[in-house]
Amino acid sequence: MPSEPYSTSLNAWRERAWRGVQAHPNLLILALVTLLAPFALSLVWLEMHQWEQRQIRSELLRVGQVMDLRQQRATLDFRYLLDGLGDLSDFVAADPRLTVALEQPDKPAALQLASSYMDQVSDKFGVNLLMLVNTDGRVLVSRVPPGSASLTGEEFSDREYFKSAMAGKSGRQFAVGRSTNIPGLFFSHPVRTQTGQLLGAAIIKMDLADIARRIELEGVIVVDAQGVVILAGQADLVFRSIEGAPILNSSDEFRLSRYKRIHFPVLKFQPGNLPDHPEVQLFGEPPRAVLHRQFDIAEHGISVHLVEDMAYLSGLRTRHQLVLWITWLGALAFLWAVSATIVFLMRGHCFRLNIEAVNIELHKLNDQLKHQAEVDFLTGCMNRRRFDEELDHEIRRSLRQKYPLTLAMFDLDHFKIINDSHGHQTGDAALQHFARVVRDQIRQTDRFARLGGEEFALLMPDTGAAAAFPMVERLRQRIAQTPLPLPNGELLPMSVSIGTASLCEVDDNDSLYQRADNAMYEAKAGGRNRTVCAPNPPGQQEMPGTD
Ligand code: GH3
Ligand code: MG
Ligand code: MG
Repeated sequence: MPSEPYSTSLNAWRERAWRGVQAHPNLLILALVTLLAPFALSLVWLEMHQWEQRQIRSELLRVGQVMDLRQQRATLDFRYLLDGLGDLSDFVAADPRLTVALEQPDKPAALQLASSYMDQVSDKFGVNLLMLVNTDGRVLVSRVPPGSASLTGEEFSDREYFKSAMAGKSGRQFAVGRSTNIPGLFFSHPVRTQTGQLLGAAIIKMDLADIARRIELEGVIVVDAQGVVILAGQADLVFRSIEGAPILNSSDEFRLSRYKRIHFPVLKFQPGNLPDHPEVQLFGEPPRAVLHRQFDIAEHGISVHLVEDMAYLSGLRTRHQLVLWITWLGALAFLWAVSATIVFLMRGHCFRLNIEAVNIELHKLNDQLKHQAEVDFLTGCMNRRRFDEELDHEIRRSLRQKYPLTLAMFDLDHFKIINDSHGHQTGDAALQHFARVVRDQIRQTDRFARLGGEEFALLMPDTGAAAAFPMVERLRQRIAQTPLPLPNGELLPMSVSIGTASLCEVDDNDSLYQRADNAMYEAKAGGRNRTVCAPNPPGQQEMPGTD
């Protein structure tokens, strides 16, 4: 019952809340959104953070796998090429033609043989430079690239590779060609007599440009033992140095002799902006995120730096921020929509409750109005309007079902005198008294009404004249025997004159009224305080009764 909750204090509080919902729905939505927003936004932030971490991890994994492959390939490439060139210098040094040339440096034929052998080797293996040097480091025979000046007679005793050979070992070293100015890798091997006596060294060189053609250098920076970049996928990195490289502490003389330059700008790897992933560093100009890994190819005295671009990660932070903001806005919009739906559903419910309450109120008022329209306010009897409807209904029913019906008209005797001598209020009390006495005597099916003034009517369904007469007589006597007690203790006697008429087939409302009224006037004329039964219309019988 919607009206019931308003009775308790809890429900009074609820009613106030409902009123609040009705009056300020937008404020309530705002309050709900404000309350829930921190949770929703934190949740979104957390989810986005985890998403970002997952992206970083999977990108690192992907790039790490790419680098694994690059590392394997670079290791194999360098081993294959450098081992090959080392073996080649061994092989060349073992050729007897070189031994002979070193043993007999004054014999042009011996030198010629050595020279043509070196030409063959150069053509066959694509080596850029070959030299045969004696133990002083002086070139006896050389094979230089076309267009370059012969190196015969030059001295290379200061070179590392020469010193290694004189120590009886293979030598290898990066250097810029003294007369060619072309950087390359030099490989040396001692040349001995059959008895093992050291005669000199065979030296071969492969230019960097040729090495670069044979090796996949993308993302690769090759650094020699001095920390100088000698090969790189990015050509402008060559002749830079890595941080802390030995070359940075060497003399200008050394720098010039080996590299023909003094300056080796330092390549810097800076810490990246991902604290959880120090392996992601910043590199280059402008700095970009890269994954950096270093490994040595020890036996060749070089180390390889792999640098893999992490451009995806550089943009990830910006993308993440953008997506975060968009998702935050989306979350707020979603919250707003849910809150608005809840609040407006509550509001709708509230309206329904109000309408129900108003409906109930209206029904009550309607009932009151109907009551007022049908009931006489002074005596509580039905009024004339309602009585006419009842009379009409009962006459139809009795005519249709052939039941008897009797109408009695009452008019209080000398009522004017009661009013005049005791006042209008006593007159009213007398009217109420009369109505009460009658109502106590009649059957439930009887209809009793005040027609106006001090005139009343009683309709007795299923009652013919024979049964009605004693009944109204009894009523009349009861009135005469029941005076109205006045406030001063007096008893005010009352009497009533009654006229009755029983329904005949020709009767309608008016004629039945008329006949009963006539009978009542006859009772007045006959001396009052009596009952007169109206005669039936000429030639008519009252409706047959059941009683
Ligand atoms: P009679 O025996 O011939 O019927 O005499 P009577 O005085 O009853 O006759 P009349 O019909 O002339 O008077 C009726 C009086 O009833 C007149 C009026 O002042 C009074 N009356 C009508 N309605 C009311 C009412 O509601 N309250 C009171 N107190 N008096 C009423
Ligand atoms: Mg009257
Ligand atoms: Mg009267």
